[in-house]
Amino acid sequence: MLKGIAASSGVAIAKVYKLEQPKVEIVKKEGDPAVETAKFNEALEKTKSDIERIKEIASKRLSDEELAVFDAHLMMASDPELASQIIAMIENDKVNAEYATDAVATQMITIFESMDNDYMRERAADVKDVTFRLKCNLLGLMIPDLGLINEDSVVVAYDLTPSDTAQLNTYAKGFATAIGGRTSHSAIMARSLEIPAVVGCSGILEAANHGDNIILDALEGNVILNPDEATIKEYEAKAKAVAEEKEALKVLKTAKSISTDGHQVELAGNIGGVKDVEGVLNFGGEGVGLFRTEFLYMNSDHFPTEDEQFEAYKEVLTAMGGRKVVVRTLDIGGDKKLSYFQFPEEMNPFLGYRAIRLCLDRTDIFRTQLRALIRASVYGRLCIMFPMIATVKEFRDAKAIFNEEKEKLVAEGVKVSDTIEVGMMVEIPAAAVNADNFAKEADFFSIGTNDLIQYTMAADRMSEHVSYLYQPYNPSILRLVKATIEGAHKEGKWAGMCGEMAGEPYAVPLLLGLGLDEFSMSATSILKARKMVTSLSKADCEKLAQEAVQLATAEEVLELVKSRVA
Ligand code: PEP
Ligand code: MG
Repeated sequence: MLKGIAASSGVAIAKVYKLEQPKVEIVKKEGDPAVETAKFNEALEKTKSDIERIKEIASKRLSDEELAVFDAHLMMASDPELASQIIAMIENDKVNAEYATDAVATQMITIFESMDNDYMRERAADVKDVTFRLKCNLLGLMIPDLGLINEDSVVVAYDLTPSDTAQLNTYAKGFATAIGGRTSHSAIMARSLEIPAVVGCSGILEAANHGDNIILDALEGNVILNPDEATIKEYEAKAKAVAEEKEALKVLKTAKSISTDGHQVELAGNIGGVKDVEGVLNFGGEGVGLFRTEFLYMNSDHFPTEDEQFEAYKEVLTAMGGRKVVVRTLDIGGDKKLSYFQFPEEMNPFLGYRAIRLCLDRTDIFRTQLRALIRASVYGRLCIMFPMIATVKEFRDAKAIFNEEKEKLVAEGVKVSDTIEVGMMVEIPAAAVNADNFAKEADFFSIGTNDLIQYTMAADRMSEHVSYLYQPYNPSILRLVKATIEGAHKEGKWAGMCGEMAGEPYAVPLLLGLGLDEFSMSATSILKARKMVTSLSKADCEKLAQEAVQLATAEEVLELVKSRVA
């Protein structure tokens, strides 16, 4: 049994699908040209049919534009120039096929990469991809591909990127990764996909083999490899109980989020794209409290155009049918990179050129997004917020650009909503401490505890080594949350929370007591949170919260909450 961090609750019992690139070791050998050429031709045919098959499966999910990469790979695999160079080397140098393939590939990649032309440099990536597959086929090595999973599996990987998670099909019953913490992006994705996940499970890659039986207990953060029959039975029962609890919560789908003494709050969902809206509505979300728009950028091979973004925002606003939708402007940088944008090299990207800092520097990118949002505003109730605001000046500058774009659109005769709210994320301690000043200018706050905790505790949210410092119940964090909510209320503004803390069952009583107005979380946590809210008295929670902020440690706070809440 291996221990990790429970990132998305549930239990899965399946086979290991190991997502690990094979290690290709090329050894130069003497070879019979006829034998090696035949071997090469066979591997080349297999490579082409592999790409065709992957493209066919992917075509059910991806747009034509996204499928173009497979066409480029097919073209490369069918390029007579590539094959003839390799065969010529096999014949002239009497070497083995994999050596000739590797040598020709290296030469071609070097030439393409040195060209002063983007198109040709991209061809280098195609050669790399195709010849890697070719070499694996020559050596009999399997290249894992998430889209090809066709039996119930738990994916085991070092980490999963957003594009990996986008490829998971219904056979993927969960995943376990070697790195990451509760708020790393793979963990957040798992919750929105509603599949169990254990992250930060070091040793998993060494311990698990492809095809092993595996139990993923993402309630406790345990991974059990090759369990015996009795253990499987035990976990089947646990999985059944989880499913029953989920079913029982459904009665709360249309209930209002009102405490026993009549105080109403809003329970909303976090989304990463248009397709997540359905989940929010299915789980009774009363709005979208965070639309992480960076996924529009990360799932593209270019900066999404104003029209492309407009369509996405319009679709979300329309689907939410007049319910509040809080869209966060581009929060890129840190661990979120773009394939088509070169970030500066920095020692600490999480403390560097990212989010609003980048947007205020590259106002062209920022203005495009704001225009798309303002144009879409007529389709619903739009709130816009800026990420990573540290100073009042940053907020003013961002808001001024918003106002300029809005005025320009009005002057162009475009219809825009007059009720767009412009707020900010409070996720840097400087903003929380200075909340009363920010509240004079911002229409609302949304507390991003994932980053607020990371920056307050100075603990990288991606690192399993310091994950013990992810302490939502630490009085330091509670005090910052309290200051933020009080700052907002003093100016008559509302305060929400869209960090993962908002959906933690034991945090709900504290946040209710501190006066939080809106709780936004992974869709799958909404009904559990509603169960909490509807069974609590706001007055009792206020007393609880006042006591909690006076305590010294996270453990004491958690103990206090547990002693008061059933
Ligand atoms: C946060 O920091 O709490 C947050 C909601 O944003 P993200 O997790 O996308 O950084
Ligand atoms: Mg954040």
